[in-house]
Amino acid sequence: MYRSHSCGELRITDTNQDVTLAGWVQKSRDKGFMVWVDLRDRYGITQLIFDESRTDAAVIQQAKSLGREFVIQVRGTVIERESKNNNMPTGDIEVLVKELTVLNSSEVPPFTIEDDTDGGEDIRMKYRYLDIRRNPVKNSLLFRHKVTQEVRNYLSNLDFCEVETPYLIKSTPEGARDFIVPSRMNPGQFYALPQSPQTFKQLLMVAGMDRYFQIVKCFRDEDLRADRQPEFTQIDCEMSFIEQEDILDVFEGLTRHLLKSIHQLDVEKFPRMTFDEAMRRYGNDKPDIRFGMEFGELNAVAQQKEFSVFNNAELVVGIAVPQAAGYTRKQIDELIEWVKRPQVGASGMVYCKCEADGTFKSSVDKFYDQEDLANWAKATGARAGDLILILSGPAYKTRTQLSALRMELGNRLGLRKPHEFAPLWVIDFPLLEWDEDTARFHAMHHPFTSPKQEDMHLLDSEPGKVRANAYDLVLNGNEIGGGSIRIHDKETQALMFRHLGFTAEEAQEQFGFLMNAFQYGAPPHGGLAFGLDRLTAILGGQETIRDYIAFPKNNSGRDVMIDAPSAIATSQLDELSIAVQAP
Ligand code: ASP
Repeated sequence: MYRSHSCGELRITDTNQDVTLAGWVQKSRDKGFMVWVDLRDRYGITQLIFDESRTDAAVIQQAKSLGREFVIQVRGTVIERESKNNNMPTGDIEVLVKELTVLNSSEVPPFTIEDDTDGGEDIRMKYRYLDIRRNPVKNSLLFRHKVTQEVRNYLSNLDFCEVETPYLIKSTPEGARDFIVPSRMNPGQFYALPQSPQTFKQLLMVAGMDRYFQIVKCFRDEDLRADRQPEFTQIDCEMSFIEQEDILDVFEGLTRHLLKSIHQLDVEKFPRMTFDEAMRRYGNDKPDIRFGMEFGELNAVAQQKEFSVFNNAELVVGIAVPQAAGYTRKQIDELIEWVKRPQVGASGMVYCKCEADGTFKSSVDKFYDQEDLANWAKATGARAGDLILILSGPAYKTRTQLSALRMELGNRLGLRKPHEFAPLWVIDFPLLEWDEDTARFHAMHHPFTSPKQEDMHLLDSEPGKVRANAYDLVLNGNEIGGGSIRIHDKETQALMFRHLGFTAEEAQEQFGFLMNAFQYGAPPHGGLAFGLDRLTAILGGQETIRDYIAFPKNNSGRDVMIDAPSAIATSQLDELSIAVQAP
């Protein structure tokens, strides 16, 4: 038996027991006649004691030669500690060692294996197996396991069946770029890695599986934004014979179950907001509703004066920053510079201080009197002591900029509390989205999402106004899930492809398999997918997903530990019939 107990297990009630432990040397203290070693494994740390008067001299000598991260096995007796440590579960006892076996030695690790390590991100990623020995990372992985286990239990209890779908599939334009895999046996032909199992899960519905889920890797070759991974995990789900309401119900239930089982939190029915409303009130389709600072539109009260910047703008919109009227000129200038950064892109910002005495002081006092400014305060919900910040310009762009400012201030003012959870359904997304680059409409969600029946008549005249049966689940300002009721008849699907700019041949070539399947009795169906990495991070009270992924890629999409991607041998390329030019 390698070990009788784990390093996190022994208590005062185990005193006098003979035990065998195995683990890593966290640290050792050598007092000459006595040596203490902290022995660590996944479950915790147990203190070992080697004492000249009670341990063999040879064993003490061995103990003195142990280095950090050596792997050892010890046999000994559990004894009560003289000075107890209340900060650790095993802190009342120690193991008086009789026998020590060094199972493996270790180089000195390149960073300290402590909760607060001295290792920077790059070095930790390079030696991720050492990083995972640290509690914060290890606990994140254990936490992720708990989340997935709860998901599996919940869905299995509702008759969802976990089905695996293939990773080597056909390249289809689903939104992002595909990762491509060359086929050796079919020279010049390629598989793609799935951006999601979307079409397969729909085919499973045609196949009569009724309720499907899968915790599954998805791959998207996108330009990497901060905290995005080229491969990530979804909790992918699909149901047959349902309406939107059924889906919202089931997955609100799942989310509520997670909050309850993980945080013992009871959450009321999730609020819902249409896409239009979310954009109007927060300038964002995934608003963080843990805090206020809702948008106040000022066109009606700011465009009747001589201030041409506002008069020429499609939208004038502001937010009231709570208790910020006291900001100095310098603080306000810094905020103005912040919104003018290229990442935000505003051309300027107007402010108005709502003084405690009920008067107003703005950066445009030349054009607006106290009564005007009082109207601004009313429109933005500002109270005495607040600071109103106003942007103007093209509607969509200005809303997006103000939303960025609102989120930044939410962070700075500590209003985005990590252990407060505010879920929200955003519904009625537009079906199509205009893409400036390609000058055509794209599916906002994906091409399989069904349009709202009552908006179908707009498809030719005002395609941008057609709403979809699509919904997102938002948690604390992050989209954690999204889905839709699907098209399930061949004609509507063909119509959709036509509107997305596919010729009938292209649609047939790329999606013929799905449209053919729709001819064999496809049931009404719909579903959604959660982003597991982000969901886990948010439930864990963190915003970055990296520590919840065992072996993540860095911001350039590289795995620095195994050094991938990398060049491959010419012989391998030849086999794949791929000619590569030297870079
Ligand atoms: N396949 C979709 C996605 O990856 C989710 C869904 O519609 O169920 O976003």
